[in-house]
Amino acid sequence: MAYDDSNIFAKILRGEIPCHKVYEDDDAIAFMDVMPQSSGHALVVPKTPSRNLLDADPAVLARIIPLVQKIAVASKSAFNADGISIAQFNETAGGQTVFHLHFHIMPRYEGQPLQIHARKMEDAAVLAANAEKLKAALA
Ligand code: 5GP
Repeated sequence: MAYDDSNIFAKILRGEIPCHKVYEDDDAIAFMDVMPQSSGHALVVPKTPSRNLLDADPAVLARIIPLVQKIAVASKSAFNADGISIAQFNETAGGQTVFHLHFHIMPRYEGQPLQIHARKMEDAAVLAANAEKLKAALA
């Protein structure tokens, strides 16, 4: 299936809808997930359009993984996490709901399961506070 630029992350990248941004460079943006599976759940989104990993340019992937690592390291520190889960879904059958490549970065705590994927909207004030914590850890 072809990339469709009406998806929500394309709109965020174009500045048409807001996000709680934590990082941006020429290649990518990172912001808080509005329906977090754990407190501090962030998304890393390359600016180059592709539906997911399957149709991505390997050169884009080569640039995005160091950023995924950078945000994951900062997230573990910012949220005092015991671990970090990184997820990336491909197509509906693979669990994907937004069809612009992105990586989930989710702080994890011993014995605590993840919340259900893309189910419950978080308060804007909580997202804003978590974005500030993550930005501070990235600074
Ligand atoms: P996927 O299922 O495609 O891997 O994940 C999409 C993610 O985007 C979900 O975790 C969902 O909570 C999140 N999401 C959906 N709509 C929005 C939005 O408008 N803004 C933000 N920041 N995240 C969103």
